[in-house]
Amino acid sequence: MMAVNIAAFQPLDEFRQLVDEMIAATKASARAPGVEEILVPGEPEWRRREVRLRLGVDIPEPAWQRIVEAGARCGVVVTVWRWANDGPESRENEGGMMSDSLDLGTIKLDLVLDRYGEVDGNQVFCPATQEEWSPGLDLNERGALRVMSNALLISADGQLTLVDTGWGEAIGWGDAQAPQHTHGVLNSLARLGVAAQDIQRVILTHAHGDHVCGNTIQRDGRWVSAFPRAEYVIQRTEAEAARRDEETWRVAFEPLIERGQLRTISGWSEIGPTVACWPTPGHTIGHQSVLIRSSQRQVLFVGDLAVLAKNMERLEWGHSWAWSLDADRTSRREVAEWAIANRSVLIIGHDPERPMVSLERAGEGYRAVPLPRRGITQEG
Ligand SMILES: [Zn+2]
Repeated sequence: MMAVNIAAFQPLDEFRQLVDEMIAATKASARAPGVEEILVPGEPEWRRREVRLRLGVDIPEPAWQRIVEAGARCGVVVTVWRWANDGPESRENEGGMMSDSLDLGTIKLDLVLDRYGEVDGNQVFCPATQEEWSPGLDLNERGALRVMSNALLISADGQLTLVDTGWGEAIGWGDAQAPQHTHGVLNSLARLGVAAQDIQRVILTHAHGDHVCGNTIQRDGRWVSAFPRAEYVIQRTEAEAARRDEETWRVAFEPLIERGQLRTISGWSEIGPTVACWPTPGHTIGHQSVLIRSSQRQVLFVGDLAVLAKNMERLEWGHSWAWSLDADRTSRREVAEWAIANRSVLIIGHDPERPMVSLERAGEGYRAVPLPRRGITQEG
């Protein structure tokens, strides 16, 4: 192996720019028929790593058995964290923060808690440094930021629409550190008096594990749709990209396709009288936000366009895993300007402190003003 100190030959910034240009040129090359996207060396592995970090690493059962046995021989007990649907105790631990809702007259919106977890601020506020992003945010004892994973229940036009499905039965972030902080979308729906078969439609913002693994549940060793009567709606480009990740595809999408439940859309789509899908690419190639229009106010569930409300205050800070940080920023700017012009509400499902905000201008930037928590009716 050989390591070369680039800085000895040319300034690092120049080199980085050169490589970025080379990658951009490669990706912009003509593609053979049927080729969706050109990947550069290392990119498939990098993407796989992202999925692994989110979904965990698959270990075949025999190999796992050998690990457990080897542990036993050395006196090491191998503990497996399995996330279990919680009892009421853990809900109380969280101070009963799970009933964020917005009453818009004929439309009701409920945040549906999947679970709590944590993320690295350097990851969600890329490329800011910790000194830049940390003011005003609480870090836990591991230096991480607390996040939630939420679905959104839209009750409108006599229909129940769910946006995103959470981690489902997959192992997700934060579980090992905080396995008690789990709720599950199905449980949280039940607390709202909603059964899985009541859901008529599921809209998926994007195909990352914390948003789609709850599409399905395991029954008798098989994955079946968690919402048996629902059509699941996703952008076509997102579905195509998700197909490349075999494990997520097999677990979260194939069972839907088998039952004809997956519907792909392209671009802006009116889903019903009050609900529309708004493409906001960047975090992933086919990421979409979900617009809810009421006579009182427009509300946008932004998916991972903003992981935390602070991403809407500093539009240039995005997720380091973004498919395209540039496209991500452009989408954020578009949404921010729209939100200010229309006095709209943004729902940021991962933010435990400010899940529902309105946006104001603050100097050159923006300020995300949290809506009062719990069951608040918005005036016009
Ligand atoms: Zn997410």
